[in-house]
Amino acid sequence: METPEPRDKFNDRTGRTEVFKLRDTELKGLLNKQTGLVKHELVEERMCPACGGHPKNARQLWIKEGLFYNKCTCGMVYISPMIKEEEMDKYYGKAQSAKKWLEVLQAQEDLDEAKFGHLLDLAAREFRPNVLTAYLFELAGSFSVFYDNCPVLKAESHSLRQSRLILCDHTARVIKQGLELLGIETIESM
Ligand SMILES: [Zn+2]
Repeated sequence: METPEPRDKFNDRTGRTEVFKLRDTELKGLLNKQTGLVKHELVEERMCPACGGHPKNARQLWIKEGLFYNKCTCGMVYISPMIKEEEMDKYYGKAQSAKKWLEVLQAQEDLDEAKFGHLLDLAAREFRPNVLTAYLFELAGSFSVFYDNCPVLKAESHSLRQSRLILCDHTARVIKQGLELLGIETIESM
Protein backbone atom coordinates (compact mmCIF):
# COMPACT_ATOMS: atom_id res chain seq x y z
CA MET A 1 0.00 0.00 0.00
CA GLU A 2 1.24 3.48 -0.82
CA THR A 3 1.03 5.92 2.08
CA PRO A 4 -0.88 9.02 1.10
CA GLU A 5 1.13 12.22 0.91
CA PRO A 6 0.51 14.66 3.81
CA ARG A 7 -1.86 17.46 2.85
CA ASP A 8 0.70 20.25 3.41
CA LYS A 9 3.24 18.61 1.13
CA PHE A 10 0.60 17.97 -1.50
CA ASN A 11 -0.50 21.63 -1.34
CA ASP A 12 3.10 22.84 -1.67
CA ARG A 13 3.90 20.55 -4.57
CA THR A 14 0.76 21.31 -6.59
CA GLY A 15 0.89 25.09 -6.05
CA ARG A 16 -2.25 25.15 -3.88
CA THR A 17 -0.34 26.77 -0.98
CA GLU A 18 0.51 29.70 -3.22
CA VAL A 19 -3.11 30.01 -4.36
CA PHE A 20 -4.32 30.08 -0.73
CA LYS A 21 -1.74 32.75 0.20
CA LEU A 22 -2.65 34.94 -2.77
CA ARG A 23 -6.34 34.50 -2.03
CA ASP A 24 -5.94 35.49 1.63
CA THR A 25 -4.15 38.69 0.63
CA GLU A 26 -6.69 39.51 -2.08
CA LEU A 27 -9.65 38.82 0.19
CA LYS A 28 -8.27 41.24 2.78
CA GLY A 29 -8.64 43.98 0.14
CA LEU A 30 -12.41 43.36 0.12
CA LEU A 31 -12.80 43.78 3.88
CA ASN A 32 -13.61 46.82 5.95
CA LYS A 33 -10.72 46.98 8.42
CA GLN A 34 -12.93 48.16 11.30
CA THR A 35 -15.73 45.59 11.05
CA GLY A 36 -13.86 42.72 9.41
CA LEU A 37 -16.85 42.35 7.06
CA VAL A 38 -16.84 42.68 3.28
CA LYS A 39 -17.13 46.40 2.42
CA HIS A 40 -20.71 47.65 2.46
CA GLU A 41 -20.65 48.98 -1.12
CA LEU A 42 -19.63 45.59 -2.54
CA VAL A 43 -22.53 43.56 -1.16
CA GLU A 44 -26.29 43.27 -1.53
CA GLU A 45 -28.97 41.48 0.43
CA ARG A 46 -30.00 38.14 -0.95
CA MET A 47 -33.09 35.97 -0.44
CA CYS A 48 -32.85 32.26 0.34
CA PRO A 49 -32.02 30.50 -2.96
CA ALA A 50 -34.19 27.50 -1.99
CA CYS A 51 -37.48 29.08 -0.84
CA GLY A 52 -37.07 32.81 -1.49
CA GLY A 53 -37.37 33.56 2.24
CA HIS A 54 -36.08 36.90 3.58
CA PRO A 55 -32.71 36.83 5.40
CA LYS A 56 -34.27 38.66 8.36
CA ASN A 57 -36.15 35.44 9.14
CA ALA A 58 -32.96 33.42 8.98
CA ARG A 59 -30.62 32.63 11.86
CA GLN A 60 -27.05 33.90 11.57
CA LEU A 61 -24.74 30.93 11.99
CA TRP A 62 -21.24 32.29 11.55
CA ILE A 63 -19.05 34.75 9.66
CA LYS A 64 -16.46 33.47 7.24
CA GLU A 65 -14.19 35.61 5.06
CA GLY A 66 -16.23 38.67 5.97
CA LEU A 67 -19.61 37.20 4.95
CA PHE A 68 -22.59 36.06 7.05
CA TYR A 69 -23.82 32.48 6.74
CA ASN A 70 -27.52 32.24 7.52
CA LYS A 71 -29.80 29.30 8.13
CA CYS A 72 -33.23 29.82 6.61
CA THR A 73 -36.41 28.51 8.21
CA CYS A 74 -36.50 25.99 5.33
CA GLY A 75 -33.13 24.59 6.46
CA MET A 76 -31.03 26.04 3.66
CA VAL A 77 -27.68 27.58 4.66
CA TYR A 78 -26.77 30.53 2.46
CA ILE A 79 -24.74 33.74 2.39
CA SER A 80 -26.40 37.13 2.75
CA PRO A 81 -25.51 39.89 2.15
CA MET A 82 -23.59 38.49 -0.80
CA ILE A 83 -20.97 40.17 -2.99
CA LYS A 84 -22.66 41.71 -6.05
CA GLU A 85 -22.17 39.78 -9.26
CA GLU A 86 -20.43 42.65 -11.06
CA GLU A 87 -18.05 43.08 -8.10
CA MET A 88 -17.38 39.35 -8.15
CA ASP A 89 -16.54 39.49 -11.86
CA LYS A 90 -14.25 42.48 -11.25
CA TYR A 91 -12.54 40.65 -8.41
CA TYR A 92 -12.03 37.40 -10.33
CA GLY A 93 -11.04 39.29 -13.46
CA LYS A 94 -7.96 40.66 -11.79
CA ALA A 95 -7.37 38.14 -8.98
CA GLN A 96 -3.97 36.53 -9.31
CA SER A 97 -5.21 33.65 -7.17
CA ALA A 98 -7.89 32.78 -9.74
CA LYS A 99 -5.33 32.74 -12.57
CA LYS A 100 -2.98 30.63 -10.50
CA TRP A 101 -5.82 28.26 -9.59
CA LEU A 102 -6.47 27.59 -13.28
CA GLU A 103 -2.79 26.68 -13.66
CA VAL A 104 -3.07 24.32 -10.71
CA LEU A 105 -6.15 22.64 -12.21
CA GLN A 106 -4.42 22.33 -15.58
CA ALA A 107 -1.39 20.70 -13.95
CA GLN A 108 -3.71 18.35 -12.06
CA GLU A 109 -5.34 17.39 -15.35
CA ASP A 110 -1.95 16.50 -16.84
CA LEU A 111 -1.21 14.47 -13.73
CA ASP A 112 -4.54 12.61 -14.02
CA GLU A 113 -3.94 11.93 -17.69
CA ALA A 114 -0.52 10.49 -16.87
CA LYS A 115 -2.11 8.32 -14.17
CA PHE A 116 -4.83 7.14 -16.55
CA GLY A 117 -2.25 6.26 -19.21
CA HIS A 118 -0.20 4.36 -16.67
CA LEU A 119 -3.27 2.40 -15.50
CA LEU A 120 -4.21 1.51 -19.07
CA ASP A 121 -0.71 0.14 -19.61
CA LEU A 122 -0.93 -1.92 -16.46
CA ALA A 123 -4.41 -3.25 -17.28
CA ALA A 124 -3.32 -4.28 -20.80
CA ARG A 125 0.07 -5.69 -19.88
CA GLU A 126 -1.13 -7.80 -16.96
CA PHE A 127 -4.59 -8.64 -18.35
CA ARG A 128 -6.24 -6.89 -15.41
CA PRO A 129 -9.29 -4.93 -16.57
CA ASN A 130 -10.27 -4.57 -12.90
CA VAL A 131 -7.52 -1.92 -12.56
CA LEU A 132 -9.46 0.16 -15.04
CA THR A 133 -12.89 -0.48 -13.53
CA ALA A 134 -11.60 0.40 -10.03
CA TYR A 135 -10.12 3.66 -11.32
CA LEU A 136 -13.31 4.62 -13.19
CA PHE A 137 -15.41 3.80 -10.14
CA GLU A 138 -13.19 5.99 -7.96
CA LEU A 139 -13.24 8.82 -10.50
CA ALA A 140 -17.03 8.71 -10.83
CA GLY A 141 -17.32 8.80 -7.02
CA SER A 142 -15.03 11.82 -6.73
CA PHE A 143 -16.88 13.57 -9.52
CA SER A 144 -20.21 12.95 -7.86
CA VAL A 145 -18.93 14.57 -4.62
CA PHE A 146 -17.67 17.54 -6.63
CA TYR A 147 -20.94 17.85 -8.56
CA ASP A 148 -23.06 17.74 -5.39
CA ASN A 149 -21.00 20.44 -3.72
CA CYS A 150 -19.94 22.81 -6.49
CA PRO A 151 -22.47 24.52 -8.76
CA VAL A 152 -21.15 24.52 -12.32
CA LEU A 153 -23.44 26.62 -14.53
CA LYS A 154 -24.43 28.70 -11.51
CA ALA A 155 -20.88 29.08 -10.20
CA GLU A 156 -20.11 32.27 -8.28
CA SER A 157 -18.00 33.77 -11.07
CA HIS A 158 -17.14 33.38 -14.75
CA SER A 159 -13.65 32.05 -14.14
CA LEU A 160 -14.93 29.52 -11.62
CA ARG A 161 -17.64 28.40 -14.04
CA GLN A 162 -15.00 28.02 -16.73
CA SER A 163 -12.63 25.96 -14.61
CA ARG A 164 -15.49 23.73 -13.41
CA LEU A 165 -16.68 23.19 -16.98
CA ILE A 166 -13.16 22.14 -17.94
CA LEU A 167 -13.16 19.68 -15.06
CA CYS A 168 -16.56 18.23 -16.14
CA ASP A 169 -15.48 17.89 -19.75
CA HIS A 170 -12.22 16.25 -18.79
CA THR A 171 -13.90 13.77 -16.44
CA ALA A 172 -16.55 12.91 -19.03
CA ARG A 173 -13.89 12.21 -21.65
CA VAL A 174 -11.89 9.93 -19.35
CA ILE A 175 -14.98 7.99 -18.24
CA LYS A 176 -16.21 7.65 -21.84
CA GLN A 177 -12.85 6.42 -23.07
CA GLY A 178 -12.49 4.02 -20.13
CA LEU A 179 -15.97 2.55 -20.56
CA GLU A 180 -15.52 2.16 -24.32
CA LEU A 181 -12.34 0.17 -23.70
CA LEU A 182 -14.40 -2.12 -21.49
CA GLY A 183 -16.98 -2.45 -24.26
CA ILE A 184 -19.60 -0.38 -22.47
CA GLU A 185 -21.52 2.20 -24.48
CA THR A 186 -22.05 5.66 -23.01
CA ILE A 187 -24.86 8.13 -23.51
CA GLU A 188 -24.35 11.82 -24.32
CA SER A 189 -26.83 13.09 -21.73
CA MET A 190 -29.04 11.87 -18.92
ZN1 LIG B 1 -35.31 29.07 2.61
